[in-house]
Amino acid sequence: MNVISKSWVFSLRTVVLTALCLAFSAAQANAQSLLRDTEIEETLREFTDPILRAGGLIPSSVDIYIVNDPSLNAFVTRGQNIFLHSGLILEADTPNQLKGVIAHETGHITGGHIVRSDYGNRSAYGSILIAAGIGLAAILAGEGEAGALILGGSQQFGALEALSYSRVNESSADQYAFEYMDRTGQSGAGLIQFFEKFRAQEVLSQARRYPYFRGHPLSSDRIDALRERVRDSEHATSSDTPEELHKHKMMQAKLRGFLNGPAEVYSRFPLADESNPARYARAVANFKQADLRNALKEIDSLIAKEPENPYFHELKAQILYESGKGVDAIAPARRALELKPGSPLLEIALAQATLQTRDAGDYGKAEVLLKAALQEEPTNSYAWYLLADVYERQGNTSLAKYATAERFYAIGDVASARSFAQRAQEELSRELPQWRRASDIIVVSDTQLAKKRGRRRGPKPLVSFTSR
Ligand SMILES: [Zn+2]
Repeated sequence: MNVISKSWVFSLRTVVLTALCLAFSAAQANAQSLLRDTEIEETLREFTDPILRAGGLIPSSVDIYIVNDPSLNAFVTRGQNIFLHSGLILEADTPNQLKGVIAHETGHITGGHIVRSDYGNRSAYGSILIAAGIGLAAILAGEGEAGALILGGSQQFGALEALSYSRVNESSADQYAFEYMDRTGQSGAGLIQFFEKFRAQEVLSQARRYPYFRGHPLSSDRIDALRERVRDSEHATSSDTPEELHKHKMMQAKLRGFLNGPAEVYSRFPLADESNPARYARAVANFKQADLRNALKEIDSLIAKEPENPYFHELKAQILYESGKGVDAIAPARRALELKPGSPLLEIALAQATLQTRDAGDYGKAEVLLKAALQEEPTNSYAWYLLADVYERQGNTSLAKYATAERFYAIGDVASARSFAQRAQEELSRELPQWRRASDIIVVSDTQLAKKRGRRRGPKPLVSFTSR
């Protein structure tokens, strides 16, 4: 796992999202973060893409985000974004249960249940604000001109969107979920199991419910309707493949390693447990406790078992890098990328380690890797940060300023982005694409800043947001 955040010394790639909101929203949202991890994202895509296709959606146009939040929640926003809380991933006992929930959320997308709403009725969904911010940043950092166009002419991103939660929509999303699972030859039983597992929530007070069930009230009618369809399906008893079960376990182990306290990890995965998930979780827990020796012992044992697994090499590189052994991290980071070529997060990890040699001959290598990563992920603020560092070391201060402008832009700090873009422009040749891009940043930032000023003078919203 890798990093993008304020604390770059952290494990999972964490994007602090509050900054994104500032660009367009007067409301305050909790500092929530997104988790980035190539392996987990790949597993989730494998689970999700067939469901999306069954729903007539194009998988590449649907983004999946993992929210670092132990509560049980999943939601969708306009622009075809699916958000899964880490708590939901951890609470799903099987891939089938997780897929059931994903299929239900897909049903909300295909059913057109996402509507714009006014300020009322939204307090539980402060996180959607944040979510909308991601879409915004993604657009901004894509084609500058298109971004400017969309932004310039739209109030829509400032307006709030929400699912209109109604029993009708919930039942309809359930039916879609069943159909998508059925069409892909999978059982809808997981969704029922998942609902039943949390059926007790229904009798608890609203406040104590998991957020998912605040938005997805469960009624026996709903569960019964679903159960009936599942029972009649020829795929009722289809089960997850051993490979899927394994990936699910590894995903959960990795998340637990990074997100749970070491004591919890050791109690769930005692030393006697020599399974891959147990070793994986312990490797991370040891590393988090600065027990480098045992962290390496666990990860090396996994590499010995599966030398072709890119993510074991990736974790080893991360452990070394974040333990202050950046140069030692180069070899495993390179191996990870060899085994998973073109993966942006792995490219960034290798660039980051490569820069630790402080060898001027390596700057160019890091530059190539970072540019490749940014090609895939133009809003990756950490990649921009490293690229600015590379330019700085190469003595190319104008490009360093440009890259810094991009970095601030990616996190929604338009005031800083504008300032750096302007300073970059003063030094850059007009012929360069970076000059034009800096222009775009200035134009869009101005629009945003003007909007913000206008809003500050405007009337206060009737309802203030209290994020959960
Ligand atoms: Zn729902």
